[in-house]
Amino acid sequence: MPELPEVELARRTLARVLERGRITAARSDDRLVSPGAPGSLEPLVGARAVAVERRGKQLRIALAAPSAGGASLLVFAHLGMTGEWHEAKTSAPPLRHEKVRVDVGARSLRYTDPRRLGRFVVAKEDTKAWRALGPDALADGVDAKALHAKLAKRRRTVKEALLDQKILAGIGNILAIEGLWRAKLDPRSRADRLTLADVRALAKGLRDAIAFQLRQLEKATEPKYVNMGGENPFRIYGRAGKPCPRCKHTLAKIVLGGRGTTFCPSCQRRI
Ligand SMILES: [Zn+2]
Repeated sequence: MPELPEVELARRTLARVLERGRITAARSDDRLVSPGAPGSLEPLVGARAVAVERRGKQLRIALAAPSAGGASLLVFAHLGMTGEWHEAKTSAPPLRHEKVRVDVGARSLRYTDPRRLGRFVVAKEDTKAWRALGPDALADGVDAKALHAKLAKRRRTVKEALLDQKILAGIGNILAIEGLWRAKLDPRSRADRLTLADVRALAKGLRDAIAFQLRQLEKATEPKYVNMGGENPFRIYGRAGKPCPRCKHTLAKIVLGGRGTTFCPSCQRRI
């Protein structure tokens, strides 16, 4: 499942192609688009993207209409479980599992999604889902004071609170696990008991975990999820039963809020 770093890479791919000029063609599998009428992406043709933004795992493309009197459009997109954006030549044949295609002159954006769980919404104003998201953990940064104030109101564990996208958009299961380990904080700690110093360490842990995952993805030759296949690049995610890279104690795995949670019972302090 894509997390913030994968979606950030998708944002960069979209921005790189869309900034070349006006959209010359747009086609979609209409089941993925809302409203899902046939040709639902056709209003995009002739428009020019003015901003490609990401908040958490959601993407928002703001488009200026082709004519001066035309209304601006917003396209909201998320990748579901298996969605990926690829850059290709317009003349290139369709990719396997290609569901959406947007051409800008000679360059083309191809969206593939074998499981078809990605969604596109074409709208005139922000969707409720977009407005509900908190500040983005990368684009807006992790502000320790603001995060501390929000966590102070939560009586759940810090791990569960971090997955609440209203608090900080973009923190998924892997980033929460890795960020808490980097901050030396036990995921079972009560969110409202963390001091500002604890949250400062957590903010740094999350920032470092995001930067690390982005570097891993940038090294990959094509967009792919860091948690799919190949060697496990993470410090502790997926390593339960193995020694902690910091203190060598055996890593444990528990379930918190329905999500598998790896941590080190020895060097991650429970508060
Ligand atoms: Zn440890």
